[in-house]
Amino acid sequence: MSKLYDVVVVGGGTSGLEAAKTAAENGLRVALLERKSDPAKVQRSCAQMFLMNMDSFYEEWMYFSKEQQKWVFPVNNFTVNYKGPYRSFYACHFIAPNAKDRIEIGDYELNASGNGRPAAVFDKGILLKGLYEEGQKAGVEYFLERNVTFVQRTARGVTVKTAEGDVLEGTFCVAADGINSRLAKVTGLNKERRFINTRKSISHYVIGVEFERSEAIFLGISWDREKLGPVPFCLLPSVYRDDEYWFFVSGQEQFDFLTQRSNFKHWFPRLEITHTRANVVNNWSPAREPFKDNVVFVGDSCWFSEAENSGALLSGHRAANAICEALHRGLPNREGIMNYILWWQQTWLATHDYRDFLCYPLFNRMFTEDEYNYLHHIVTQKLPWTLNPFKLYSRLMEGIGPHMDRIRQERPALAKKIAMFRPEKVLQLVQPVSRVGFPNV
Ligand SMILES: Cc1cc2nc3c(=O)[nH]c(=O)nc-3n(C[C@H](O)[C@H](O)[C@H](O)COP(=O)(O)OP(=O)(O)OC[C@H]3O[C@@H](n4cnc5c(N)ncnc54)[C@H](O)[C@@H]3O)c2cc1C
Repeated sequence: MSKLYDVVVVGGGTSGLEAAKTAAENGLRVALLERKSDPAKVQRSCAQMFLMNMDSFYEEWMYFSKEQQKWVFPVNNFTVNYKGPYRSFYACHFIAPNAKDRIEIGDYELNASGNGRPAAVFDKGILLKGLYEEGQKAGVEYFLERNVTFVQRTARGVTVKTAEGDVLEGTFCVAADGINSRLAKVTGLNKERRFINTRKSISHYVIGVEFERSEAIFLGISWDREKLGPVPFCLLPSVYRDDEYWFFVSGQEQFDFLTQRSNFKHWFPRLEITHTRANVVNNWSPAREPFKDNVVFVGDSCWFSEAENSGALLSGHRAANAICEALHRGLPNREGIMNYILWWQQTWLATHDYRDFLCYPLFNRMFTEDEYNYLHHIVTQKLPWTLNPFKLYSRLMEGIGPHMDRIRQERPALAKKIAMFRPEKVLQLVQPVSRVGFPNV
């Protein structure tokens, strides 16, 4: 008979490592299964930004304490150690295809002066390594290089199987297997969700770049009139070297166009790629509840696009505590972890509409090159700081809103397009890309 754990965690990313460590520190018997040989080796693209101290995200006001070297979650009352470097940046700038006009979110100069509120990038590998080692100290049993393929409700709880032949039993299982969650598929959770799209992209870390006000996140859109059409990109300071930047784009052809032929090419005078990461993301609407057949879902696994590392830590932590509560109340079932389910529904589902998140990528596809240049040119006021992806589009609209009379007069066709482009319409607009995706249903 296989060994019975209190909890079997599937996935050793941010949410899984936090869940396993917390459960083990609270005295539970914990196993964690991870596909990679080293959980701290980051292969998947991640901008590694702290979404902190500026915006309520999941109704939390997380910040980083330099003195204590900790991320602090004051609302949910816990901390996460982080003994790595960070690099501040000061604003979020949307850049037009002409590489000149920009819409500014956040006051770059104020934030750079030390009197404002900078954001930061951090080293995710160091965060994961710290969590892994703390889990090890607390007694988590790690099973690395294991690909979980199967999970099933049993009389005692849940059975988890791997492609390598392991069979583990837990009273609960935590699904922390990320955005393309196999467990969301196997448990049938994806059948209750709406498939949105499959998105692939690469991120090169680059040096030899040169541009003004470089310590910001740039959400740019370039334009290839011959072949590619709109080419959105993201450029952001890297935590690994002072002269290095994270360059995120949908593919290599787009990268080559941007750096060699576009209006932005003078930003890259001596371009060198230091290393590369990539990702493929299947986007689904969020689940109705993060639970199915004694599998508790955390992090990206049942959410839309990305929970962010802050959301992954929060949900991993909360789920582990809820499991402790359930076991000690003698309720090893849905009722026992109701605190987690309700918390997730209230602070994730009810307060974050995934259609708002979808609006920004779609905004990059809706207009012509000339219209983008025009819109970026007329919005000259600085907009309040946010890095919350659920608020980016509405922040842009706050910038454009006061200029609508002028747009209606000067560009009536553009005014009509803007009026049509509303979050309620987004699912209709996204239908053509949904049809060509690869859902893991
Ligand atoms: C382009 C991009 C930019 C981003 N930028 C930011 C940012 O700036 N700031 C931020 O905080 N977040 C950012 N994120 C989001 C962040 O990376 C994720 O939200 C976070 O990593 C989610 O953590 P997780 O533990 O839920 O999943 P993951 O980190 O994806 O971890 C899942 C783990 O499960 C393992 N696994 C998967 N399937 C199996 C299986 N079948 N068996 C065993 N193991 C398995 C994987 O190997 C992995 O280790 C970004 C994401 C992307 C794609």
